[in-house]
Amino acid sequence: MPRISRSATPKTIRPSGLKGKSDEPNDKQQTTKPPIKRHRASRRPSPDTIEEIFRRFHALEPEPKGELEHVNAYTLLVAVVLSAQATDAGVNKATRALFKLADTPEKMLALGEETLRQYIQTIGLYRTKAKNVMALSERLVREFQSQVPADRDVLETLPGVGRKTANVVMNMAFGQPTMAVDTHVFRVSHRIGLSKGKNPLAVEADLLRCIPDAYSMHAHHWLILHGRYLCKARKPECWRCSISELCSFPDKSEPPHGHRA
Ligand code: SF4
Repeated sequence: MPRISRSATPKTIRPSGLKGKSDEPNDKQQTTKPPIKRHRASRRPSPDTIEEIFRRFHALEPEPKGELEHVNAYTLLVAVVLSAQATDAGVNKATRALFKLADTPEKMLALGEETLRQYIQTIGLYRTKAKNVMALSERLVREFQSQVPADRDVLETLPGVGRKTANVVMNMAFGQPTMAVDTHVFRVSHRIGLSKGKNPLAVEADLLRCIPDAYSMHAHHWLILHGRYLCKARKPECWRCSISELCSFPDKSEPPHGHRA
């Protein structure tokens, strides 16, 4: 049986779906006191509790998908590179037209850096990102027969590609049960108590250790979507969270004033 948090308010669990209104990127500062203590470590849940948490995520969203639009492994790689410190929605807005013209490394090189910059100029750090996209496209053509290599270590050697990007590509393009740790996964993992790691690499290792194999393929998407739409940075919506009584986060939020159960 899952362990029940003594700090949690007993409540009926209702399937609420993972999605709602996201608080990124313009969520307002919380004005009431005490403030939410972000990233405060919670008690580590038992293996049974972890199993139950992911069973519920699975029941709500059996096939969670990333929200970056792409048409193949190459455009996925480019989209993830462009998404650093940007929202998926903002990247999608820019890449919809871009990927119609350039969905392979050769076509991207033919487009040229200057034109690429014009397509992605609404995305933060677009000059650096345009440079990286051109450089990685050039390497794919020159060294990998224009294919995206299915190897995380090799992916990490491409310009603009870090471990998180490589993990996303390995998971979404090549079906590997990797754990890409972004700001949402980092925060949610700490709140639920899945990790007390101080950096993404430590959190990744904890998640790979504690999440049951049956759920590891989709785990990072469940955690991202949970963090993006429900367990938000400043205002987690604990009152409508499907795993509330399994989560030992000490600063759970109450329903907004006037909300009817
Ligand atoms: S939203 Fe859910 S997972 Fe996040 S802190 Fe609240 S109860 Fe825990």
